[in-house]
Amino acid sequence: MSREVRVRFAPSPTGPLHIGGVRTALYNYLFARRHGGKMLLRIEDTDSQRFVPGAEEYIIESLKWCGIEIDEGVGVGGPHAPYRQSERREIYLKYATQLVDAGWAYYAFDTPEELDALRKEAEEAGKTFAYNYEVREKLPTSLSLPKEEVEARIARGDQWVVRFKMPENEVVAMDDLIRGHVEVNTSTLDDKVLYKSADALPTYHLANIVDDHLMEVSHVIRGEEWLPSLPLHYLLYRAFGWDDTRPEFAHLPLLLKPTGGGKLSKRDGDKMGFPVFPLFWQSPTTGDTARGYREDGYLAEAFINMLALLGWNPGTKQEIFSMQELIDAFSLDRVSKAGARFQPDKAKWFNAQYMHNLTDEQLAPIMQPILKAHGIETSDELAGKAAGIMKERMTLTTDMWDLTSFFFVAPTEYEEKLTKKQWKGENPAMLAELRSVLEAIDDFSKENTEAVVRAWIEAKGFALGQVMNTLRLALVGAGKGPGMFDVTEFIGKAECLKRIDNLIKNVTPAE
Ligand code: GLU
Repeated sequence: MSREVRVRFAPSPTGPLHIGGVRTALYNYLFARRHGGKMLLRIEDTDSQRFVPGAEEYIIESLKWCGIEIDEGVGVGGPHAPYRQSERREIYLKYATQLVDAGWAYYAFDTPEELDALRKEAEEAGKTFAYNYEVREKLPTSLSLPKEEVEARIARGDQWVVRFKMPENEVVAMDDLIRGHVEVNTSTLDDKVLYKSADALPTYHLANIVDDHLMEVSHVIRGEEWLPSLPLHYLLYRAFGWDDTRPEFAHLPLLLKPTGGGKLSKRDGDKMGFPVFPLFWQSPTTGDTARGYREDGYLAEAFINMLALLGWNPGTKQEIFSMQELIDAFSLDRVSKAGARFQPDKAKWFNAQYMHNLTDEQLAPIMQPILKAHGIETSDELAGKAAGIMKERMTLTTDMWDLTSFFFVAPTEYEEKLTKKQWKGENPAMLAELRSVLEAIDDFSKENTEAVVRAWIEAKGFALGQVMNTLRLALVGAGKGPGMFDVTEFIGKAECLKRIDNLIKNVTPAE
């Protein structure tokens, strides 16, 4: 690739970022890193009607959580700052005017009533209405009005828009890095609005093309929903005389519902119990909330790994990829044309794989805030060790407390079934004797304690299960947890004896 690779993620702050948007950002990032290029973040906020407060902050925090680093853009700065389109508003009028002057665009003064009348007329004639070559001459535009009147209307402050003058019956031939060669006849397209005097702002199409040009973007990698805009974008590059530096385009396949048909939506997530957003979101205006992968207990690395494989495949059977491995393996050639079906269970599977592979040192910082939330202060070493002993049974980080709480808190209640089964007959006396055996042990390591206790069990002729289950009742209070000697070692002798005493003192044995 001769040209410097510069890609951008260009979200509109219209709400929380959907995981499809995160995947778009991720593919841009992987592509940039793979080719030693730059990753830009541009906020496309020219549609003031759809602007949602907090959405931009949400986008930035999501990218940070995912480990998608921005080289230039909002929050980072760079040679083409500002990167928020609402702060670039004075740039765009010049380009809109340039297109009008060159005959590629025109001023339109029509009112909503005038448009409605034409729409009705078309409907009555059984046609679908489109603002195009057939209609533009019938409306008050700079194509139909005398020059003086156009100038007078603008001068007196009438509202106007600039529309692109879509050529009639011309074939636009385009190349997409994923879709291949695409041709569209311009007669099927309408005259899109490029600029509005009402708010002195460009629309998406104009701002997007102008900024991609000014920011020297080399590749536009975005969702498939933008493919229908591609012919207009091609024509805009031509109209501006920027064909030579027009970026290459890659339109990514949709993320589909778990059932296959249609685009993955928040409703699917609500129905089936999985998030479609990276982070928890609360709308500042309506108060509505949406679940997020982070708060639901997913690790960012697992989430990213799962997303990367939704629409791209490495061409091998490998499934677990670190970010660096994704960067090394990624190519647009291996992005599929077909939509990628989202599988919530697979997301869980990925997370479980990552949880199982974490070392105690890596588990400690995940565990510490969970422990703190339950009022427990402990060392990183013990936090990591407790999680490490139980990690094979973890799927999400939200499982961590239930699976490890007994390491840190003595039971205050005892599972009824286990109590009924174990806390009777000779077991209370047996446990009292085991207490003395434990008390006499100096080296309380798992191995030594196990050896001493087993020898005692053998000498006494007890059944192993009988002893272990009774001890479990005392130390854990329930029929769960790891091997008993992991527990004895972790909580230590004093705590073991205390928990045994608690059971003996507080629970009356069954008949
Ligand atoms: N602002 C557009 C969006 O929200 C950007 C589309 C593009 O990347 O061109 O997706």
